Amino acid sequence: MTGDARLDVDLAVVGAGPAGLAAATAGARLGLTTVVFDEGMQPGGRLPGQVHHGDGRRWHSGRDDAERLTAAAGEAGVGIVTGTTVWGLEPAWDLFLDGAADGPRFCGARVVVLATGATEVPAPLPGWTLPGVMTPGGLQTMVNVHGVVPGGRALVAGLGPLGLEVAQVLSATGVDVVGVHAAWSGALGALPTPGGSLHELAHTVGRAAPTWLARWGSAIARRRALSTLAARLAPCRIAGVELRLDEVALELRGGDRVESAVIAPISGDGTPRRDAAREVDVDVVCLGAGLQPLIELTGSTGCGLIDVLGLSGPVPLHGDRQQTTVPGLYVAGGATGVEGSAVCERQGTVAGLAAAAYLRTPGATASAVAVARDELERARRAAPVRFDRHVIEGRREMQRRWEGACPTTM
Ligand SMILES: Cc1cc2nc3c(=O)[nH]c(=O)nc-3n(C[C@H](O)[C@H](O)[C@H](O)COP(=O)(O)OP(=O)(O)OC[C@H]3O[C@@H](n4cnc5c(N)ncnc54)[C@H](O)[C@@H]3O)c2cc1C
Repeated sequence: MTGDARLDVDLAVVGAGPAGLAAATAGARLGLTTVVFDEGMQPGGRLPGQVHHGDGRRWHSGRDDAERLTAAAGEAGVGIVTGTTVWGLEPAWDLFLDGAADGPRFCGARVVVLATGATEVPAPLPGWTLPGVMTPGGLQTMVNVHGVVPGGRALVAGLGPLGLEVAQVLSATGVDVVGVHAAWSGALGALPTPGGSLHELAHTVGRAAPTWLARWGSAIARRRALSTLAARLAPCRIAGVELRLDEVALELRGGDRVESAVIAPISGDGTPRRDAAREVDVDVVCLGAGLQPLIELTGSTGCGLIDVLGLSGPVPLHGDRQQTTVPGLYVAGGATGVEGSAVCERQGTVAGLAAAAYLRTPGATASAVAVARDELERARRAAPVRFDRHVIEGRREMQRRWEGACPTTM
């Protein structure tokens, strides 16, 4: 879809990740002229970087999902414009574009779905800017997309689901992963107590982790003394990678690249014991403090934003049809709270159908939206990994806030 400086469609979608592609496909299947813009060079969003070892037995490649969703969008007649950033958005609706010299500069749309995804939160340890220190997303791209093994001996600092996933991928490619530790956030964040980390993991990666963690992790974690002991003694390995809940990464050292990491044991309240610190040689460090929704474009429309526990940061206030406080503006995927790709895809379908219903498109019935919403809820409950353990309550709270603020649906 190139040639004209201006493009006019019924439905414009920003972001060609699982949420955006599913939203566009749902709209186009009902006959809407639909376009998706993405600043990346290929559709799929974060999917091609994702290689899961979800059930502990076989690997699942996000690249296959990206190809499936892109093919479905193409068959439905969606125009996919890659290498194009949407840098501005004005209600009812003008999209301002920056892309290829012969690509469109403006897009007029009757309804818009924003599916811009999430972004990484950095963990600023001393030494975090050394070459060889990368975020989990950077390493996923390097290893899973470009097939480059970044070094021979790695430390993963950051105990969330992403760190664990990268640790498994590095280990499978032959990198010696010396351990997965919490990253010391100093005055910036809560102390990573062994019991707290255990509790967190039981609720986030519990179903993809050893049975003892899923079954007893949160019960143990409620008793501080027991959890500290359990975190020290338990054989906590996921797919061969050792989790050290009783230690924290304090500092990264090196000259013109990372050469070592300083690791210290922590006491039951999370205070590092610097006198007992040790230094381990590494040439790669995966360092991250999680993910947060990417909401700048949504915020620029004047749409209401709120911060609800469980959704990983401020997100647009939205209802269960993915509608926002601005008529004709819908949101889906990581931009509404960080969840796995299967959930984001189903949210996209709900948003695409609801956007079509907003335009009174034949076939975009309330029952079609309700069926898609049920599928979304099923995917959410079945997710093997949660990026935030409070996400289910967070979604409920969002709906309550929506009903309080906007009792009629749009
Ligand atoms: C670094 C990282 C790693 C992740 N790894 C995993 C994982 O391993 N497993 C897992 O289940 N989940 C992972 N996630 C969670 C992820 O958010 C979901 O899995 C899923 O990919 C989100 O789908 P989405 O469609 O909402 O967003 P994304 O897949 O992130 O797609 C959003 C797209 O929007 C585009 N975009 C954003 N802003 C603009 C703009 N202004 N103009 C044009 N294009 C724009 C981006 O280029 C991107 O392609 C990860 C997230 C991140 C950020």
